[in-house]
Amino acid sequence: MMRRTGIGAVMMAAVGAAWVGASCSRASTPAAARVERHKITATVGMVADIVREVAGDRAEVANIIGEGVDPHLYKPTRSDVAALMSADAIFYNGLMLEGKMADTLVKVATSGKKVYAVTELLDEKELLEPESLAGHFDPHVWMDASAWSKAVEAVARALSEFDPGSAATYRANAERYRKELEALHAYARKVIASIPREQRVLITAHDAFNYFGRAYDIEVLGIQGLSTESEAGLADINRLVDLIVARKIGAVFVETSVADKNVRALVEGAKARGHEVRIGGSLFSDAMGKPGTYEGTYIGMIDHNATIIARALGGEAPQRGMNGKLAEAPAGE
Ligand SMILES: [Zn+2]
Repeated sequence: MMRRTGIGAVMMAAVGAAWVGASCSRASTPAAARVERHKITATVGMVADIVREVAGDRAEVANIIGEGVDPHLYKPTRSDVAALMSADAIFYNGLMLEGKMADTLVKVATSGKKVYAVTELLDEKELLEPESLAGHFDPHVWMDASAWSKAVEAVARALSEFDPGSAATYRANAERYRKELEALHAYARKVIASIPREQRVLITAHDAFNYFGRAYDIEVLGIQGLSTESEAGLADINRLVDLIVARKIGAVFVETSVADKNVRALVEGAKARGHEVRIGGSLFSDAMGKPGTYEGTYIGMIDHNATIIARALGGEAPQRGMNGKLAEAPAGE
């Protein structure tokens, strides 16, 4: 029987009931508690963004793993450890996404720091168990806006335990934000469904899109194993080229946080057999866009992905996305 192994379980045991009755370490007096904001550190941007939405002006939220960086391979630096140690609370994805940070997170949790996995509330039935991961769950839950809504709920609960005085604010913020995620989910379903069935195949550099595929009904084929640590074999490339040529797939996709050499090999391979397949665009898989931009938010990230995929594969979606906020597509895309 497969279990949710790794740091989640270890840390929850280590942290115990730390959330209950814990007070913000920066709030030395009640007066200071009212003006000072909680200092929260998150691992990836997608987690930081939902914490920011739920916490509102009650917290300052920073993330360690930035734009364009692969969380599967990320090793924390000394200054990351310092940032974790000085935070009032820490949020991470879990399900072993932050594979090389596990030891550090366990250490920080054991020291008494409040550490929380946002995927904790997801039922095992809702999680995918790809064969390639042999016994582990797929960590890329944010690719399904409806499932990620549960992570928002986990954040609201955690913050309310941590800071009960602001619980009503956290509830209200989470409620408002979950409505936005519902709209996002409906938009992605609609635009992906507009792609003709035979062409509705998402081919990209790594297996980050399994939840996207399940939620939005598109076949997903990654070139390499779930973690970017494994190299794709020539056989994998050839198998995909066969499929691209046979089904006349018009576009394959690169990702901002993963090297694109394997995707380019597909384009070359198809070309050698007389079929033109283009790079349909750059998707956000394990990291969001530039901080301060729409694509640098979780909603902007998924809007970007759904819009680009739909348009490149022959479906219909507004060029600037669900809210008209997406950046203009760069020339050539
Ligand atoms: Zn990934």
